[in-house]
Amino acid sequence: MSVTDRCDMRCRYCMAENMVFEPRSALLTLEEQADLARQLVVRGVTRIRLTGGEPLVRRGVTQLARSIGQMLGNGLDELTMTTNGARLAEFSDDLWDAGIRRINVSLDTRDPDRFTHITRLGRLSDVLAGLAAAKKRGFSIKINMVALKSLNEDEIGDMLSWCCDEGFDLSLIETMPLGETGEDRRENFLPLTEVRQTLDQHFDLRPSQHRTGGPSRYMEVQGTNTRLGFISPLTQNFCDSCNRIRISATGQLYMCLGHEDHVDFRAALRSEDPGALGAALDLAMGRKPERHNFDLGQAATQRHMNVTGG
Ligand code: SAM
Ligand code: SF4
Repeated sequence: MSVTDRCDMRCRYCMAENMVFEPRSALLTLEEQADLARQLVVRGVTRIRLTGGEPLVRRGVTQLARSIGQMLGNGLDELTMTTNGARLAEFSDDLWDAGIRRINVSLDTRDPDRFTHITRLGRLSDVLAGLAAAKKRGFSIKINMVALKSLNEDEIGDMLSWCCDEGFDLSLIETMPLGETGEDRRENFLPLTEVRQTLDQHFDLRPSQHRTGGPSRYMEVQGTNTRLGFISPLTQNFCDSCNRIRISATGQLYMCLGHEDHVDFRAALRSEDPGALGAALDLAMGRKPERHNFDLGQAATQRHMNVTGG
């Protein structure tokens, strides 16, 4: 669930520099988001991830996490968050108290200048402070790193070693062509098949049976507790194992990141008909496509990644 499309960064692969966001009046209220989560859990959803945009810039997000967290053990197996980490130092305790135990933090580089170049508005020190606070609080942490030719490709091995030292997992992601960003994504596209070959020369990587219901494949880094994930929609497609659905902050349900097709949950939520949400969910599930059709040369959707989250 995306709680906002807004963000305090403007990562080059995610957003255009002068991004236009939804007016606040178009967003679901936090009460509606909590209600939606409850209705989804009643209909069999067992895992919810709060994302964005940047979830920690939405005022009241910890209150929302608390009310969703009350369903943990009561139909909901897990509540997680994907964040850029810049405000984690401030919110770690609240997120823990809400029942979140696992978080994904996006970090494409550990070089401060590169970090600012890639994120346009971000500061590496904020994210490192956030990670330190979250680690101290006891969260299980996974780093999301978008693999980018000539921007961070020389750091991937170091990032994996650092994650092993810190006790973090690492997921590598290929850039997906979602929305126009003002950049040519082909210039920085790095196939993970190539990255894997390089990593194999330095790490003992063994296939893992671990699955999360998403389009990712995992390896165990032998001799460590770190798991390495590959999200490779362009070079190795794993759409067939993906059971995820994504809801934007305006209440639109997207069945696949790579398609425009969506179902209006906001209308269903606001309808007088108590069966409207169930009917919308059934409609959506019947239309979940088999796979995306990404082509790096053109944006697969007008929608950017900040609308649906990762
Ligand atoms: N702001 C939060 C963050 O950065 O973690 C949550 C939302 S962000 C859209 C979720 C994930 O999507 C991040 O790990 C980010 O790196 C990834 N992402 C954004 N745009 C992408 C793109 N075009 N291709 C692949 N991954 C992308
Ligand atoms: Fe913001 Fe996350 Fe997109 Fe970066 S990837 S611009 S942090 S929403």
